[in-house]
Amino acid sequence: MYSMLNENIQYIKGVGPKKAEKMSKLGIETIGDALYYFPRQFEDRSHEKKIFQLEDSEKVTVKVRINNIVNLKVNKMTITRFEVSDETGRASLIFFNRAYLRNSFRVGDIVRVFGSVKIQKNSKIEMHNCEIEYEKLEKNTGIIVPVYSLTYGVSNKDVMGVIRNIFENADISIKDYFPSNILKKYNMCDINFAIRSMHFPTRKEDLKVAMFRLIFEEFLFMQLGLFSIKGGNNCVKGIEFKSSSKLNEIESSLPFNLTKAQKKALNEILDDMQSPRAMNRLVQGDVGSGKTVVAQMALANAVLNGYQGAYMAPTEILAKQHYESFKQFFDDKEIKVELLTGSSKKKQAEEIVESLKKGEIDILIGTHSLIEDRVEFKNLGLVITDEQHRFGVRQRAKLSSKSENPDVIVMTATPIPRTLALILYGDLDISIIDELPPGRKPIETIAIEKNKRKKYYMSNVRSEIEKGHQAYIVCPLVEESEILEVQSATEVYEELSNEIFPDLRLGLLHGKMKAKEKDEIMEAFKNHELDILVSTTVIEVGVNVPNATLMIVENSERFGLSQLHQLRGRVGRGSEKSYCTLIYDSKTNICKQRMNIMEETNDGFKISEKDLEIRGPGDFFGTRQHGLPELKVANLFKHIKILRMAQKEAREIYSKDPALELKENQGIKYKIKEMFKSIGENISL
Ligand code: ADP
Ligand code: MG
Repeated sequence: MYSMLNENIQYIKGVGPKKAEKMSKLGIETIGDALYYFPRQFEDRSHEKKIFQLEDSEKVTVKVRINNIVNLKVNKMTITRFEVSDETGRASLIFFNRAYLRNSFRVGDIVRVFGSVKIQKNSKIEMHNCEIEYEKLEKNTGIIVPVYSLTYGVSNKDVMGVIRNIFENADISIKDYFPSNILKKYNMCDINFAIRSMHFPTRKEDLKVAMFRLIFEEFLFMQLGLFSIKGGNNCVKGIEFKSSSKLNEIESSLPFNLTKAQKKALNEILDDMQSPRAMNRLVQGDVGSGKTVVAQMALANAVLNGYQGAYMAPTEILAKQHYESFKQFFDDKEIKVELLTGSSKKKQAEEIVESLKKGEIDILIGTHSLIEDRVEFKNLGLVITDEQHRFGVRQRAKLSSKSENPDVIVMTATPIPRTLALILYGDLDISIIDELPPGRKPIETIAIEKNKRKKYYMSNVRSEIEKGHQAYIVCPLVEESEILEVQSATEVYEELSNEIFPDLRLGLLHGKMKAKEKDEIMEAFKNHELDILVSTTVIEVGVNVPNATLMIVENSERFGLSQLHQLRGRVGRGSEKSYCTLIYDSKTNICKQRMNIMEETNDGFKISEKDLEIRGPGDFFGTRQHGLPELKVANLFKHIKILRMAQKEAREIYSKDPALELKENQGIKYKIKEMFKSIGENISL
């Protein structure tokens, strides 16, 4: 039905194998890929500025006269430099490896230039690799111009050209996959109009109509796909737990009083547990708000009712830490707690699996190991996943499926903006722990530029350590490369231990180390046998060392705000005042803005909303671990209204036709499968 879209783009006139290969780097292999390769954004180039108005990092159009053109060879690279001016000032346009430009323009020409501005230290104005055209042509520097994500060797013009050729040389009328009643109901344009308008937006209104259609369909497909993975309806019958006076005894035996917020969350959980409906609850609480004890109380309640509980943590370090705290908590209460992780010894693991089946273990704590097939419970009643964003939708569903409709709690310290929670969890109930235990001093955050880094280590860090405190140093996140990440942590570790702190006790922790080594280092840090722990982001979640009062993040500009907030939450856990220092190496406005947010607020919710706004949902969770396919047009932050509309429609479709068997829904079904296949989710619709 959609076969034409599956044809290779190299057969499109003007493309050919060479260009096709380049395009494949963008994931564009077929005609369909190209048509659905939507612009990342649209640039309104109607605003022209004069040179004297230009500001650093902004994207603008300027009209200038060319005064000089030179090509320079630097190593193997050609740098082409245009000296240009208008009546208000001078600037340089700099191009890398585009020597041919020198022959395409002449001194004296008036050109229109579009690109981003770079103001150098000596106040010289430059624009790098900008687009340059004769004023009269105005093809790409026109009014609304699509801007595509690019890769080395493929320019925006290339992508535009290929798509133009497709439209001019192929008959690409796509059969709409929406039934006509949906199109009518929402007054939506058809898919052909939508796609064409995205690539050739002649009028702003058309673009709006096209965007609406594409955003709506993305949300709709995503929601329907999620429904089919985890079921669309939370009102299934569950266990009716009884209340127990023993639980009150346990609460009063705690070394502290629960905060008001903890009590509220716990009561909501206990109410849910008592109700005949299966619980599906998200507990959001900022780092250090004390989620663990709430989980422990809920698990105690399950065990007091004769059920087993499971607690899944995202890393071994965390699982182990929780195991220890749980053991302490439950030891004198005749509740048996066990730990199962990837590094559990074979024999021991087998024993655990055996006694779990027999019901001899009350609470099993662990990592992903808990969802292995061999792990079977006798009567699992409550499932808790910690730091839920680390697990995919399917992994969570798998743990719950180890029993018939157990109650489910997911906990997170990365406050999920409401919109994202909406799509991930639909009708899930949410408890919020919005209060820290008493006596915590707010963490003071400062951002410092990289060039002041050494001095900072030598004075401030040293004096904090000399007070008997400990420090974490977290090293740059290197996207997609754990090896580089390890390398950077190792370098910092060596630099500090050899040059700056030869007399102090430093430890190094990274993801490539064996679990046992990691545990040993962590243990040593906890026992204050180390003063400073240099690590990669493996330290990110949950670790608890109250004597650590200093968190330093190197190249903090590379982290997401929520992640920085998580890291910051590692300190401030004792009674001493704690500090978080963000070392950054960037002069952009965005970086400054982000550092300011971190300095000004300790509110995880505010930070996560900002983060989502600045980075988009894809990056929000680091990678795609959260089990959501990438959204190409829709934005969870900006398009809440459309999200709600699409969710409502998804619910209607799902309730009428859960397996999408009706003829009118076949197009939708096809698109959902395609969307989820891209993240390795095989939807069994
Ligand atoms: P998180 O919500 O980040 O998981 P934890 O559960 O690890 O937080 O709690 C952080 C620390 O606060 C722990 O040391 C815990 O014992 C302590 N804590 C939790 N609740 C309270 C409370 N109500 N009063 C005092 N300390 C508390
Ligand atoms: Mg925790």
